[in-house]
Amino acid sequence: MNTDTLKIKQNGHSLNDFNITDIGDDHLFTGLETPMKADAFKISDEEKKQRIAILFEEIMDVMGLDLTDDSLKGTPKRVAKMYIDEIFSGLNPANKPKVALFDNKYQYNQMVVEKNITFYSNCEHHFVPIIGKAHVSYISSGKVIGLSKLNRIVQYYAKRPQVQERLTNQIAEDLKAILETEDVAVIIDAKHLCVSSRGIKDDTSATVTTYYGGQFNTPAKIAELHNYINN
Ligand SMILES: [Zn+2]
Repeated sequence: MNTDTLKIKQNGHSLNDFNITDIGDDHLFTGLETPMKADAFKISDEEKKQRIAILFEEIMDVMGLDLTDDSLKGTPKRVAKMYIDEIFSGLNPANKPKVALFDNKYQYNQMVVEKNITFYSNCEHHFVPIIGKAHVSYISSGKVIGLSKLNRIVQYYAKRPQVQERLTNQIAEDLKAILETEDVAVIIDAKHLCVSSRGIKDDTSATVTTYYGGQFNTPAKIAELHNYINN
């Protein structure tokens, strides 16, 4: 039997005729919203952790690992907790950072740049890390945001299975909505471990994605922004 087309039907799940030889190893970008099921939050985080622990134990068992070993036996629960509470916590809208806006009483009307925001995300095609830096900037339309909130918004969207293009746009769209302005820029420079540690095994390449909205979408503003980021 061709294992690529093997359909797994267990617990009501199937792989929808998914065929890895059709899709290949390329990274596809399908849309702005993270694709989620309509009933994604019907079960509680605690239930999700219990189910993931069982399923991850199954993966380890299939790979032949001895789950009675002292070092391994806690891993399924550890992974489940890490998925839900940490590295994929941004899937749950309940974890979205609360953002307060302030009036721009300083009358500061130039760009604000929060640069070198380190983030850790995970590639949704391979579930291995994406490690990078985000630079975000906005020009106030009358409201300002606490600087640490810019970091928190980046972290929230990073803590999902991601593709870098979507991560960039999700941060930009959220900032535009929060700050009520089109004048938002996001630049992400990241390394994908699915490119460096496996597959093509290119350890030196990095991926850069950008969003320049409103006033940022001019050669002069882009040059000004890059000048701040590179110094
Ligand atoms: Zn990948």
